Amino acid sequence: MGINRVLSNKKNSGNGFATDIPSQTSLEEYQHHLLINRAEKEIIDLIRTRPGLTKGDLVDYTEYSRTKISSCVDNLILKKYIVENDETEYSGGRRSRTFSINGRLGLLAGIDIGATSIDIAVADLSRKVLIRRAEPAQVRQGPIKILGRVSTLLESMVEEIGFSTDDVLGIGIGVPGPVDFQRGIVISPPIMPGWDKYPIIQTVSQWFPRANIVVDNDVNVMALGELYAGNGKGIENLIFVKIGTGIGAGIICKGEIYRGASGCAGDIGHISVTKSGPICHCGNKGCLESLASGPAMAERALFAAEAGKSPILLDRYAANGNRLSAEDIGFGAREGDQLSIEIIRESGEMVGDVLASLVNFFNPEMIVIGGGVSNLGNLLLSSIRQAVLRRSLPLATRNLDIVFSGIGTDAGVIGAVNLAFDHLFVVMTTGEVGVG
Ligand SMILES: [Zn+2]
Repeated sequence: MGINRVLSNKKNSGNGFATDIPSQTSLEEYQHHLLINRAEKEIIDLIRTRPGLTKGDLVDYTEYSRTKISSCVDNLILKKYIVENDETEYSGGRRSRTFSINGRLGLLAGIDIGATSIDIAVADLSRKVLIRRAEPAQVRQGPIKILGRVSTLLESMVEEIGFSTDDVLGIGIGVPGPVDFQRGIVISPPIMPGWDKYPIIQTVSQWFPRANIVVDNDVNVMALGELYAGNGKGIENLIFVKIGTGIGAGIICKGEIYRGASGCAGDIGHISVTKSGPICHCGNKGCLESLASGPAMAERALFAAEAGKSPILLDRYAANGNRLSAEDIGFGAREGDQLSIEIIRESGEMVGDVLASLVNFFNPEMIVIGGGVSNLGNLLLSSIRQAVLRRSLPLATRNLDIVFSGIGTDAGVIGAVNLAFDHLFVVMTTGEVGVG
């Protein structure tokens, strides 16, 4: 089926829309990369993280000659991908021009689809956020409804800042499930009914036909956010751990997301903590997620509170209409409730024990803890830290920092904007023989 047929259905939120798009549609016709050569790509990557580099700096940072750098820079300026800055650097008594990504070339959108929310940020190409919106939304309502809402919201945001949908050059989307990154689809996601293998890219493309769209797991996207804008700036080897409704990790290896052979690297929520324990939604017993996630903590707390161990939590439970959350446990701990303190400490230890194994295995420079449960504060962080330090090899922890996320709830959208940027400029393969 051609793109025209698909486009003719644009914005039909009604029946038939989903089945009109075959799940195996080739992605190529939906990819809108900006093609450059290898040296130009290196220049873009350098300028992106270190704005204000001169041609001389670029020669120093790469293995290219001054002539090569000069012609690439001129070419990138001609294509309007980069611009010369007004300010100049003085080096050796000479004025040197510096360069930046051309923010005005177009827009990037970062979309963070959570279990119960949609977060969107629109940025210029220099990744300066121009507008940001968040709305409650239930991901379990399925892809037709949610992607329709995401696309109309993004369209209205773009128009609000005086642009059109054609100005959107890149879109990064984070989703709360396992993603086949090459194909841009989610595979058997536990909390996303109806999304299995759904053609997300093809669907969103109908609203934003010029945009290059990339889909990834939400935790990977948050890890990218930390790497480019949070506490992980400049860190080469990092693990980002999200503790919320579920538990997962994004791995940054040598400055890039490590996805593994089929894209599910970092799914630490289902690492076994104990052979007994509650049955996890994956079917196994004693997974980390079934013991230390937000809902699991609340369940353990409620069980003990009902046995008379915490009048405070029992009061909160009744006041919330027979519901208890990790937030209530945080409240209890701040009020000095022993059960709440104990639950947080235990959960921190369980997370820390698993992280200790990862530290021994991967030897990261930093572990960043994010997600809703990280609001439980320093008690959680210190319990995680103690467990990691106790169980990891001294050499592995010598240069290890364990910190909370520096950008909190922004990690998802900022990461998604950067994901979009990462995949916008692609090295031309024309003329390369024997590849594949
Ligand atoms: Zn499990």
